[in-house]
Amino acid sequence: MSGITKILSVDDSATMRKIVRGRVEALNFEFLEAGDGREAISIMYREYKNIGLILLDWNMPGMDGMQFLQAAKKEALFKPIPIIMVTSEGHRESIVLAIQAGATNYIIKPFTSDEIIKKIMTTVRKI
Ligand SMILES: [Mg+2]
Repeated sequence: MSGITKILSVDDSATMRKIVRGRVEALNFEFLEAGDGREAISIMYREYKNIGLILLDWNMPGMDGMQFLQAAKKEALFKPIPIIMVTSEGHRESIVLAIQAGATNYIIKPFTSDEIIKKIMTTVRKI
């Protein structure tokens, strides 16, 4: 057991990952990051036992957030890991689809530091 819960940010924007990293580390979680869905899945096979939460961007080239969400919820090893969809205003109406597909929570960009901290703390699973 590592004893430290890890949070995985899946986002094609390095700037956004950096913002998320700041909040995650301020909360004393360990930060993992992936620039796309495929990279995230390979990290998850290695780390799924330690991952307490995934923050998932919707718009990404290649495997997008919804495709990743569906793949993650199909894999029994990953299914228990809560996922927060990180969406732009344009996807507000699609949030219900993400919840139906198994997302636990969502946050709309741009978000404040307080908002993301609150979402992380209410959604992260205890390991
Ligand atoms: Mg993106």
